[in-house]
Amino acid sequence: MSKELTQLTLTEAVSALKAGTINPLELIDAHIKRIETDKATSAKPINATLHIDKEAVRTQLKRFDQTELKNSLLAGVPIAIKRNINLTGFPVDCSSKILQGYKSAYTATAVANYLGHGGTIFANLNMDEFAMGSANKYSIYGQVHNPLNRAYIPGGSSGGPAAAVSANEALATLGSDTGGSIRQPAACCGVVGLKPTYGRVSRYGVVAFASSFDQVGPITKSVADNALLLQAIAGHDERDSTSSNIPVPNYSATLENSLKGITIGIPREYYKTAEVIPEILAAVTRVQNFYKEAGAIIKEISLPATEYGLPVYYVLAPAEASTNLARFDGIRYGRRSDKAKTLHDLFFQTRSEGLGAEVKRRMFTGGYVLSAGYYDAYYLKALKVRRRIYNEYHEALRTCDVLLVPTMPYRVPKIDEPYENPVQMYLSDVFTIAANLTGAPAISVPCGKDEVGLPISFQLMGRPFDEATLYNIAHVYEKNHPINF
Ligand code: GLN
Repeated sequence: MSKELTQLTLTEAVSALKAGTINPLELIDAHIKRIETDKATSAKPINATLHIDKEAVRTQLKRFDQTELKNSLLAGVPIAIKRNINLTGFPVDCSSKILQGYKSAYTATAVANYLGHGGTIFANLNMDEFAMGSANKYSIYGQVHNPLNRAYIPGGSSGGPAAAVSANEALATLGSDTGGSIRQPAACCGVVGLKPTYGRVSRYGVVAFASSFDQVGPITKSVADNALLLQAIAGHDERDSTSSNIPVPNYSATLENSLKGITIGIPREYYKTAEVIPEILAAVTRVQNFYKEAGAIIKEISLPATEYGLPVYYVLAPAEASTNLARFDGIRYGRRSDKAKTLHDLFFQTRSEGLGAEVKRRMFTGGYVLSAGYYDAYYLKALKVRRRIYNEYHEALRTCDVLLVPTMPYRVPKIDEPYENPVQMYLSDVFTIAANLTGAPAISVPCGKDEVGLPISFQLMGRPFDEATLYNIAHVYEKNHPINF
């Protein structure tokens, strides 16, 4: 084979596995070698991969005989997952001290589906603590470095999953996206990331951050890979009451459809905010022009409530997080403080020692907006504004098939360029949050380079359960604009 094993796309690897020219363990060995070489020789290791378990893969493979495996959708192809997704026996601490040493007692449905289609999982990956962050700075395992330039952040909170794909340390990965955590790091690392429609992928077995926003989704080297991976993980699950029973279409079958007559909405507010820099506007405008030439109709629209997305998210997500994370109390999971003398003290000490600063900040905000005196003023108000954003979005999608916007407003930040305050970091999600507030699917695709050669990406947001159209539109662009970072 001319390409090195770690350079294959997921789709190419599956074909080679089906043809029998390689086997899953060889693929895993090639990736492990790459991960270990970087760790051993690099001054600033990427630090994406935390746990590797080749034995687990042998067990996963034993469930199939050779013929079954070759006839399966995935033919044994290995990927890695974010460290907040359960797989029996794998450590699942969400990069938090409070869960250190905790191992999964069961497997998430998204992962079980992947394994059921003949896939294998060999590793799990670094992330911001409990998926709160945009730079993968907030992990007890330390900063993840952007493989394209180690002085820069890989984005967050799925910094590990995005960096691993970008560095060819995994063929593809699964991340989670509550406010942008798949798309924003994918954009920083020059790879493709999709947040599925809320309800498309089961949340069962994914450590909850903000349950009305969370979705698991694929981070991949290409749009076609992404379509294949979503196919494998999506579907109804009776253990997640918010999962949908709408059938999962064959996403790979419609990638090449013509774009003639497709209406692409351009929401003015995403292009006119103060935050977005000219270099990014120019890159995304070139994407618009490409689509126009490909026969799409470009339609300017307005989503006036856009500016409220960020504040609404930063009320609702911490509120949900403060209740979800209440279970980490030193009694049931993970770490327990040995300093406590009373039960109350046990909760207090365990959480004081076990949770990091950003997570604590969310616990305080969440508790505050839910407290008796402030519930109406903040939480309830934010729910109402969320509904307004939702209505506005879905109204726009009656006349547009998709919306096209930048993924991030500014360039990939440097690691040592500190955010002046937490809100400045929150701003990097200004364009990704709408999809979580509305439940819509959204994909981020690279479309250029900034002045230091780091990626610029655009985002397509679609109608609920219409990932097929996003993949089609994204694939046609990608095919005509190959980029090497
Ligand atoms: N960066 C956002 C936050 O910190 C989004 C996180 C996510 O999507 N998990 O909340």
